[in-house]
Amino acid sequence: MTSGSELARAISGGTRLYGILGHPITHSLSPLIQTFAFQHHHLDCLYVPFPVQPDRLPTALAGAIALGICGLNITIPHKEAILPLLDEVSTEAEFIGAVNTVDIRDGRTIGYNTDGDGFLLPLQALHIVFADTTALILGAGGAARAVTVALLRAGCPELTLCNRTPERAYRLCDDLCQRFPQAQINSMPFEHAAAAARDHSLIVNTTAVGLHPGDPQLLPETAFRPEHVVYDIVYRPLYTELLQVAKQRGATVVPGIEMLIGQGAEAFRIWTDRTFPTLAIRHLVQPLI
Ligand code: NAP
Repeated sequence: MTSGSELARAISGGTRLYGILGHPITHSLSPLIQTFAFQHHHLDCLYVPFPVQPDRLPTALAGAIALGICGLNITIPHKEAILPLLDEVSTEAEFIGAVNTVDIRDGRTIGYNTDGDGFLLPLQALHIVFADTTALILGAGGAARAVTVALLRAGCPELTLCNRTPERAYRLCDDLCQRFPQAQINSMPFEHAAAAARDHSLIVNTTAVGLHPGDPQLLPETAFRPEHVVYDIVYRPLYTELLQVAKQRGATVVPGIEMLIGQGAEAFRIWTDRTFPTLAIRHLVQPLI
């Protein structure tokens, strides 16, 4: 049981409030992760889940500003809808078309998308040399936008996009080519992904495939080699079938939980300018996946 003095330390007249807006929100791991980080740094801050119906988003944001809330994470279904409601949006979030973090300072709202930087963190920990990395990206949705921009900004010279709906990959390819004219960026039908894997050093699954048992296999096991780094951003289950097969073939694998923690770390950095206790959070979250 929490003692009176512990509670007094946890909540004071100066407690700063943070939270996450989404619907549904009960499944979110962010309250646990961010609360752990605030407590790790002994910060007088609280982080709360706010279930917000789609039509209540403008009211909820105005209320957050009025109440002096200092920062918000934004999740489904509000990531796109929040953009026009904000005072400022980072170039990254504008390109991706989605905001997952809002910093509120002196009543001004600034939107960011931390998925891309969060995605890179585990690759940086593996000491990947991005200038030597050629990436095959499966998927062309919102997460693919964040991942591809992050890789190209990090210096990745070559990138290939494969998506079930080819038009979406073509569109993303065009947008990326305009922004990164120095890089070699291609898109191709999904059927060619297995063959394309041979010519790339990093394979990233940004599709939702792998989340459910019985989902189709995205790549045959022969597509993977020990030289590959294979990253699946799906984080439930912890090791998707794609990662299990890639690991059996000797590839280095990165599970999506690393991006989940990474995007949280970037949000925390924006709000507090502090580093995330990543190792401890990984131990905290892994059993819950
Ligand atoms: P999204 O915008 O809806 O895009 C979904 C993508 O998955 C599209 O490319 C879609 O292809 C593809 N897809 C869906 N079902 C498919 C199937 N049966 N076969 C082949 N492709 C299929 O979603 P998103 O925001 O990009 O998120 C994608 C996944 O990333 C989700 O599982 C999400 O939970 C995960 N994610 C993880 C993190 C993290 O922190 N680890 C962060 C963000 C997202 P079409 O275009 O053909 O429909």
